[in-house]
Amino acid sequence: MAADRTQSESADSRYFSFGRFLRQRFGTRVYRVTIDAGFTCPNVDGTVAVGGCVYCDNRSFSPNRRLPRQTIRDQVARGIALLQKRYRADKFIAYFQAATNTYAPVDKLKRLYDEALDHPNIVGLAIGTRPDCVPDPVLDLIEDYARRYYVCLELGLQTIHDRSLEWMNRGDTFASFVDAVGRCRGRDLDVCAHVILGLPGESHADMMATADALASLPVDAVKIHNLHVVRDTPLEKMYADGQVRMFTFEEYVQVVCDFLERLPASMVIQRLSGDAPPKYLVAPEWCLNKQALLEAIRHELVRRDSRQGPTVPNRPAFNKFFPSWGTHSAADFRIMDDHRTNFHVFVCSLLPRL
Ligand code: SF4
Repeated sequence: MAADRTQSESADSRYFSFGRFLRQRFGTRVYRVTIDAGFTCPNVDGTVAVGGCVYCDNRSFSPNRRLPRQTIRDQVARGIALLQKRYRADKFIAYFQAATNTYAPVDKLKRLYDEALDHPNIVGLAIGTRPDCVPDPVLDLIEDYARRYYVCLELGLQTIHDRSLEWMNRGDTFASFVDAVGRCRGRDLDVCAHVILGLPGESHADMMATADALASLPVDAVKIHNLHVVRDTPLEKMYADGQVRMFTFEEYVQVVCDFLERLPASMVIQRLSGDAPPKYLVAPEWCLNKQALLEAIRHELVRRDSRQGPTVPNRPAFNKFFPSWGTHSAADFRIMDDHRTNFHVFVCSLLPRL
């Protein structure tokens, strides 16, 4: 048993977990309190598209959307009380999770964020949104909070391949993500990218190209999800018709370890899998056992004698040499294939616009 524990502990240090990041930053455990502020999404209401992303049912990933609507103040108080009882925690991040949490006028956003931050045990904000929904006035507001609190802006990238974004009815492009990340620079907030592995039509090389692009951008954190099927979504029908298949447990462990190896060691890994409550999940069943999956990932990294970012330089070098990054657009980036050199993460040629 002692040997098992030692192996598990050393494996845990093989990637930069969100828990470790929070302990380093706050000196204690910090938990997220999820909030449903009642937002909708431009990809649902017809502004960008209708129907939403093919895999999306906000009830499946946002606990508060499954409950009768409460005020933000009540959601925060209830969430903190539950977490305090379970973990004896006393610091929390207010996590605006459901739908697109910047999709409102700035004064309304300010009122909602202020209400969440009003609780004395809240030490930060996490805001989930779309890259095409963060205009500069919204970023100015969020920057103001970032001067006083830890703030993480979570941007749904999912993949760098526009053909996959089109397949999922995302209504957005990789260029939009690059633009949003560039406009976040210098604002003291952390940027977290959401990605999905296992999208139909994406090869192993395609998924690794997404990792390499992330490594080349000033992105601070990532949430990695396995594609999974939720009830009453278009994806459920595609899955039932045999148009898409899910990774097996073993396949996902391999691909997520390959992905981790390509990310810089400084990038915080906020999630390593996606799931939904059993009532909402269609497939794959294995993602319900998160603990087993995390253990398998850790053991695979130990078996490989590998870790997150073994050859990837940390981003400060990027920032030092390319301080004007934010002035470039997606068109300035050329992703190259040479993943074996130290420069494989910096895949952009940053050619001046002609
Ligand atoms: S952008 Fe987010 S909230 Fe909107 S449809 Fe897609 S997954 Fe759902």
